[in-house]
Amino acid sequence: MKALLFIETDGEKALGGSLELISAAKALDAEGTALVAGNRAAADTVAELGIPVIYIESATDCDTLTAVLSETVKEENPDLVLLANTALSKDIAPRIAARQNLGCVSDVTGMSKSDDKVIYTRPAYNGTILENIEVEGTAVVTVRNGSFSKPEAASNAGVTEKKIEIPADAVKAKIVDTVKEITESVNLEEAEIIVSGGRGMGSAENFELVKELASVLGGVVGATRPPIEDGWISRAHQVGQSGKIVAPKLYIACGISGAAQHTSGMMGSSYIVAINKDEDAPIFEIANLSIVGNVTEILPLMIEEMKKA
Ligand code: FAD
Repeated sequence: MKALLFIETDGEKALGGSLELISAAKALDAEGTALVAGNRAAADTVAELGIPVIYIESATDCDTLTAVLSETVKEENPDLVLLANTALSKDIAPRIAARQNLGCVSDVTGMSKSDDKVIYTRPAYNGTILENIEVEGTAVVTVRNGSFSKPEAASNAGVTEKKIEIPADAVKAKIVDTVKEITESVNLEEAEIIVSGGRGMGSAENFELVKELASVLGGVVGATRPPIEDGWISRAHQVGQSGKIVAPKLYIACGISGAAQHTSGMMGSSYIVAINKDEDAPIFEIANLSIVGNVTEILPLMIEEMKKA
């Protein structure tokens, strides 16, 4: 079985979610080849993880990357094409599938082999069920961040630089300028610790406790939608269906009920601590550690204890 992996970079390094694709391919015993574009240092790093890399120098925008990947799929003829579940890769994946007439599965959290077929598992209906999907022929698949472990270093598998001729009509949009939007940038997707606050925090003033605990733990602040609508924190921090999909090692949910629109974005966390005054709150159904109590009493105690640690 052959897998082609698209490794996305942030301009400096390969994204963690993309590197997990190497472990995903290994879990299937697939012979993997990675495609890295526009960042030679990232290509070298990926090769050091034991996977051969095809390096394309100039492609960075969605149209060019789609064309480059489509051509590589034609040449390599893989059984599956793996991409991370980022905004850019989710844009590219269906385009390749449509151009090459392939199946497409998004937001996959697990893969297994049955005979010679791959079964793709993904959450549906806001994470209330997991569905298994089989694809006839080659599949283009986006994989949810945190579903597979980060790969270990291995012997360098080498980088091959390639030039791919892109048909003139393939690139319909041209980037003429890049304007950096002045918004807060929050790296929730790559965070190992997230402390999230919900409506139960009660006020912007109390929400500061969430920020303080996150800071003491060296983590990142997350939020449900209500605190954002109430202006306690910016939209960049939203976790969930219409926010970010996260998978940290530790997720602390403070005053959060556990609505499906929120939990669908954080249920991949390795360890979930939930603090809620209602012992029947749905968040406790997915929590590893449930604390029944008032956030305004419990958070100051946690902050105090963590400062001592
Ligand atoms: P609530 O559901 O109101 O829960 C507050 C909780 O705090 C309660 O369980 C309560 O017992 C507890 N509490 C209250 N006071 C205290 C206290 N002093 N101490 C301890 N506990 C206390 N939401 C998201 O989060 N992310 C999304 O991406 C998202 N996308 C959406 C998309 C759509 C199309 C729609 C319709 C909704 C979306 N929502 C999203 C909103 C979602 O449906 C819920 O309304 C939201 O997640 C609830 O947030 P919450 O848990 O903070 O608030």
